[in-house]
Formats: sequence, structure tokens, C-alpha cells
Amino acid sequence: MSKLFLVPTPIGNLKDITLRAIEILEQADLILAEDTRHARKLLSHYHIETPVHSHHMYNEHKSADAIAAKISAGQTVALISDAGTPGISDPGFLLVRTCVEKGIPVKTLPGPAAFIPALINSGLPCDRFCFEGFLPQKKGRQKKLEALRSETRTMIFYESPFRLVRALEEMSAVFGNDRQASVSRELTKIYEETLRGSLIFLSDHYKNNPPKGEIVIIVAGNK
Ligand code: SAM
Repeated sequence: MSKLFLVPTPIGNLKDITLRAIEILEQADLILAEDTRHARKLLSHYHIETPVHSHHMYNEHKSADAIAAKISAGQTVALISDAGTPGISDPGFLLVRTCVEKGIPVKTLPGPAAFIPALINSGLPCDRFCFEGFLPQKKGRQKKLEALRSETRTMIFYESPFRLVRALEEMSAVFGNDRQASVSRELTKIYEETLRGSLIFLSDHYKNNPPKGEIVIIVAGNK
């Protein structure tokens, strides 16, 4: 029976893809990708010739029904994002929900997601954690941090390098200067780095050494 597959792709190192992910991408009738040019680099590396269509957050709510109709008509569709697992701070949720509502089988493959290596690498408790994704850029940012003030689980945030120092300073103000944290940058890539310490140490460090690349912030929960 035809279905929707959600297929995780590498977050940097092209070798971080499962044999099954390659097989599903080869066998699908159609691959939906956030950025088709970006996807073609990965697909050509693995000699995958499946047709690729664009699917991003700006058209997801409009296109979900049409994609579900294609799957119902017999096509198997594989959704990928630019990096990591679709649906994790990436398009995917609306399409999955539409398929679930219509009784279309959905299968998500296990694979890369930036927050897992960042969490484990942090050395902070990983038995219980909460994934917060990106903080709002403007409105609601402060409120969101305030709501996490008494969170006891380890917290995970995605952040851009341009807002890292600001985020660490805001977190220091809400959670306290001494709260332990870690910043993982460019995971799986050549300049991969994880820096651990208090929020104030990390914000001072990155103020003096402006960061580049992709970033995950891990913050210890409130004791
Ligand atoms: N779907 C992805 C996942 O499963 O992790 C997340 C996509 S989200 C649009 C992109 C954000 O993920 C980046 O801004 C960064 O916070 C994080 N990220 C992605 N790749 C990363 C990497 N190689 N190193 C550190 N963070 C990364």
C-alpha cells in the first residue's frame, strides 16, 4: 500500500544517512524537499534519481490535501527537509496530520536530528528533557523564557549565530548567571565544537568570539 515516509537526512556529514533512508528515497515515486537544489546535492551524492518537488512551510498548509490525494491514488511519497528530521523545527507536521486524518499510512524513519548529539554531548542530564526549538525572534521571546524559569528538565533550544549572545544573555537574566549550559556548533562538520560552562561564561566567550554556523543551546533544568 502507498504511504508517506518521513526521511531524516544528514545535518552536515553526508555519511550520516541510514541504508534504509537511501532505499526509501530510491524507491519512492516522489520526494518532497524544502529546497530542491539543496536536496539534489544529497540525492546526486547517492545516485538517487527519484523526481523531487518543492514542499516548504510557506506552501505546506495549501499543498497537504493535494499530496494526500496523490498518496491515496497509489503514489509513495518521501518527505525530507534541508537537514535532520522533517517535522523537527521543519515542515512536516501539517502533512502528517492531514495523512493521519485521512487514514493514510505514515512511517517516520529514525535518523539525524541536531538536538540529540547536542544533548548527549552537553554532559547535562538527558534522562528527562524538553525541546523548545527556536525562541520567538521578537514578540513572546521574554514570556517564553519566563515560562521556563522553573522548568526542571534539561532544555534544548535552536538558535542562529546572530542571536546566540543575545539568547545567552537573556537566559542568564532569567535562569541565573551560574546555570550550567552548553553550546554545540556545526555538529558533524569540520569545525564542530561543543563549549560547556555557566550561561555567563558562554555569553562572555561568544561576545569575544562571534560564532558562525548552526547552533544548539542546551541549558540545565532548575534544581
Ligand atoms: N530538522 C532539523 C533537526 O532535525 O534537527 C532542524 C532544522 S532547523 C530549521 C535548523 C536548526 O537546527 C539550526 O538553526 C540549528 O539550530 C540546528 N542545527 C541543524 N544542523 C545543525 C548542526 N550541524 N549543528 C548544530 N545545530 C544544527
